[in-house]
Amino acid sequence: MISSSRAMRCAVSVDPGEFMPQLDIDPSSNRPAYARWLRHSNDITQQFLAIGGMADFISLGGGLPAAELYPLKAIQSATERALSHWGTQALEYGPVEGLPALRDAIAQRMSKRLKGRFTSDNVIITSGAMQSLEIIGKVLIDRGDCVVTQHPTYVGALDAWRAREPTYVPLDWRDRQGTLCSDLRQSKFVYAVPNYSNPTGVLVPTSERVHLLACAARAGVWVLEDDPYCALHYDGPAEPALMTLDCAGLGGGAYAGPVIYLGTLSKSIAPGLRVGWALADASMIRMLTLAKMASDLSGSMFSQAVAWQLLQDDIESSHCVRIVSAYRERRDALCAQARAELSEWFEWEVPPGGMFVWMRARDPRIDTDVLYRFAKEEKVAFVPSSVFYHAGQLNNAMRLNFTRGAPAQLREGVSRLARAVRRYLNNHA
Ligand code: PMP
Repeated sequence: MISSSRAMRCAVSVDPGEFMPQLDIDPSSNRPAYARWLRHSNDITQQFLAIGGMADFISLGGGLPAAELYPLKAIQSATERALSHWGTQALEYGPVEGLPALRDAIAQRMSKRLKGRFTSDNVIITSGAMQSLEIIGKVLIDRGDCVVTQHPTYVGALDAWRAREPTYVPLDWRDRQGTLCSDLRQSKFVYAVPNYSNPTGVLVPTSERVHLLACAARAGVWVLEDDPYCALHYDGPAEPALMTLDCAGLGGGAYAGPVIYLGTLSKSIAPGLRVGWALADASMIRMLTLAKMASDLSGSMFSQAVAWQLLQDDIESSHCVRIVSAYRERRDALCAQARAELSEWFEWEVPPGGMFVWMRARDPRIDTDVLYRFAKEEKVAFVPSSVFYHAGQLNNAMRLNFTRGAPAQLREGVSRLARAVRRYLNNHA
């Protein structure tokens, strides 16, 4: 384990042997070596997508919505109507930046939701928010460039940028040392998930968002706001988006500020659509389009046509009411069971939204990278904290998901986890 003091600042060199789970790369092969970034990677996300489909496993790991709640009938009907409307155009390659009608629809929705003035020139449609992260890396990160991010941060963003070899500085929202502006000055952009963050579930207060925007403006850096969980609020609405706060300070013209806002239909409708978007200054959208061209030529026109129809039908609003009430019940079920069975070893805050509870070990003997192996033997999965740090720095916490399973399953998952902790501490700590 890398000590937490080493974890504090930028340019940490990584010994890939120091954290788990890592890739199994055969060093004795006499073929040309794989690129260096693979040695600093892990396949945790691939593991969770696979575990999500195993019947005897309870996954508290992935960030997956509840499959039984997907609006299957509405999507079936939208698909038929989209095909009738778009005909063979839905089966063609399309414009790199996305189906024009969908870009328009997103621009209109975002103008209303975020209280800004956006046109389709401010929108690029991507294969989930994940592809937006990847192409932003291509457009902004040269090797060694610094990115300011929350610590811990979304593993998918770290994965998206790993091959570009950036360095990282932790984002201290409260700016306790008064160093945020100078930290930002060293960087190209700041990356944040202020609404029910992945992995911590934290909802960042408005005052801290305002301070970040002021520092970013002073430092002249881009602000990447990733907002997949905004609709999943259980105890009152989310705080205003960074994009909304930035638009409030502008005149009435088209958006030309530093915020790049990422949205997705993955959590509010279904991830299988693979429809997300970036909303930004039009010149940034042009750069992202160049980067996307070399990633996939064109996104799926079929998915985009269906997504367009779903937005016309306004499926999102009614569907979100349903899932928010189910997810609140699941969150409460998981937290109640955890209070009964895990509180001796872990502490956490009940998240006001999103999909995750972030549990920090009270017991210093607990290494969640090791606990992960015991949990797998009990047929339950969680995500160990190390993967949410660019250099695997901290292995004393874990992320639990509460949206995928029904309450009874979540309770059973927590009981299995408690058994895993007990066995781990009896045998190995
Ligand atoms: N950003 C964050 C913070 C996420 O949690 C996720 C999904 N786990 C994504 C982006 C990617 O979502 P998608 O590609 O499905 O839109």
